[in-house]
Amino acid sequence: MIYRTPEYCRDFRCIAGECMDSCCKGWEIDIDEATAAKYATIKGAFGERLRDNIKDGHFILSKDERCPFLNNDGLCDIYTTLGEKSLCHICAEHPRYYEWFGNIKEGGTGLCCEASAQLILSRPFLLYEEEVPFEEAAGEYDEELFDMLIEVRESMLETVCDDNTPLAEALCYILDTALTAAECIDIQISRNKTTIGVAEAIQKIFHSFSELEPIDDKWIPYIRRCANKLDEAPNANAKHISYLRRIAAYFLFRYIMKSIYDGNVIGYATFAVVSTLFICELFRCQSAEHGACSFEDCAEIAKNYSKETEYCEENMEKLLDCFETEDSFSINTLKAVIRATFRKNVDDI
Ligand code: SF4
Repeated sequence: MIYRTPEYCRDFRCIAGECMDSCCKGWEIDIDEATAAKYATIKGAFGERLRDNIKDGHFILSKDERCPFLNNDGLCDIYTTLGEKSLCHICAEHPRYYEWFGNIKEGGTGLCCEASAQLILSRPFLLYEEEVPFEEAAGEYDEELFDMLIEVRESMLETVCDDNTPLAEALCYILDTALTAAECIDIQISRNKTTIGVAEAIQKIFHSFSELEPIDDKWIPYIRRCANKLDEAPNANAKHISYLRRIAAYFLFRYIMKSIYDGNVIGYATFAVVSTLFICELFRCQSAEHGACSFEDCAEIAKNYSKETEYCEENMEKLLDCFETEDSFSINTLKAVIRATFRKNVDDI
């Protein structure tokens, strides 16, 4: 089968002890059955330690939500004691994601990880394909719809990666293309069609994000602080545009094909567009507080956004629901907000 992935993902390496926001903190880690069975057979003191720190199929986190096997050097004691092959499935694969479609497997590394976020923002979005052994993992889907969605996604990716198309216009094109594609799909997704003013819409968009379930306690206060800084925030910085194009490409590649199962091509396209727009607003607000955002600041903001949205199933569902019902996410409102956000340097971007 063909494995298709953004080229930069092939260079992904976990930075382990150097990671400032380790994925071994703050998440409940489920242990798959095969690994749990293996851990049950490990002998000696380490085997005892393993069994003492597992309950109901996951590791017992400390009070500050650290995995009990994350040591003070930021390294994993299971990895260093038993080797990489003894990691449970989630630990071995994170932050990689996959989707299967018949003879095609797609995947990449998620924006929620510090090392991966830096790769995503720093490298052009190019796809790489290689032959891999067949895996029987695809759900049932309509082949004609698959071909159409591949074409739709390709044209969205081409447009957003094209430096000659201003980013604002590329994002509007993505929304329009998703609308046209949705008309060809036999699943009706309702959508609020009211247009509201740009200033009101931006505040409402920030409000929607501040209503999501926080993963990190600092996130919601940060969003609220940013909402209060919007008026004094500088315009979108032309230096950040290549990062934003790559962020949009990441979300498009990862999410558009999911609509093969639920028909929600508008929802996933909106998620890609709103994520890019919202991350841009966060760059602007951060610049208002601390001066121009560096590359590292931008990667950090994008990583935190990803953790708080796409890595929480409940938040993703809430967002997709908001896109359908709220006037701040109607297609016309979003297009006006996008054009206003990028208005000053629209020629550059
Ligand atoms: S977040 Fe990424 S870089 Fe950090 S420990 Fe996890 S996989 Fe490694």
